[in-house]
Amino acid sequence: MEKRDELYAGKAKSVYLTDNPDELILFFRDDTSAFDGERIEQLARKGEVNNKFNAFIMEKLAAAGIPTHFKSLLSPQESIVKKLDMLPVECVVRNIAAGSLCKRLGVQEGLDIEPPTFEFFLKNDELHDPMINEYHIRAFGWGTDKQIEAMQSLTFSVNQVLKALFAEAGLLLVDYKLEFGDFHGEMVLGDEFTPDGCRLWDAETRKKLDKDRFRQGLGGVVEAYEEVAHRLGVDLS
Ligand code: ADP
Ligand code: UDP
Repeated sequence: MEKRDELYAGKAKSVYLTDNPDELILFFRDDTSAFDGERIEQLARKGEVNNKFNAFIMEKLAAAGIPTHFKSLLSPQESIVKKLDMLPVECVVRNIAAGSLCKRLGVQEGLDIEPPTFEFFLKNDELHDPMINEYHIRAFGWGTDKQIEAMQSLTFSVNQVLKALFAEAGLLLVDYKLEFGDFHGEMVLGDEFTPDGCRLWDAETRKKLDKDRFRQGLGGVVEAYEEVAHRLGVDLS
């Protein structure tokens, strides 16, 4: 497989075309961003930890029957994935109140959310990723009824699999964001699942072990990601 031109450089990953029109290379950089790209810093080892973490999680999801874009690890910071036609929406499920939900609705951080909630956000940094609903998605052509339904049901299926996986490692899956794309007519999970895009708390102490350490200036960001990886049994060698 041959690596070709860069297709897109996002805030944390770069995407490369390959000689196979159906495959891309995702390069996980050490860049870490917060507040819609207003703050960006380099954190040593983060790219490698996230690449390997994502591979581990995507394989668990695929084993549970969830279609994902992940094909294989290519190098410490690169993975080969299926090239998807990405929908410009983010799907967020919450099991415990945190982050923007607390600000928006005035609920206290740490409150259990039962049953879990589902939210759509528009992927648009300039507009600060506003919350949208399925009517907006249909009206502005960001997705079809079938795609909306698939995104919702797959995002909840991911919750079943990952809540249990993290619980076995003594971790609470507080919330997470997923992105989907079309691959020859099928909705497939794309992008990444890493502590950059979810909230994970120690089940006993509720210590934050995710990107909130960066957002809130708590320090030990990559060390926390590595701790989660070790607890799950991710091979970081
Ligand atoms: P952002 O775009 O939010 O700054 P990243 O730095 O993670 O985020 O950039 C990765 C980009 O690649 C995102 O825009 C994401 O939607 C896109 N992407 C992720 N997986 C795929 C895929 N399988 N096919 C096509 N595009 C993808
Ligand atoms: N999230 C993300 N990218 C975004 C927005 C949110 O990965 O652009 C993740 C975030 O890490 C958290 C979940 O989605 O796990 C819910 O985020 P929230 O709406 O609380 O927003 P935040 O307070 O993180 O801005």
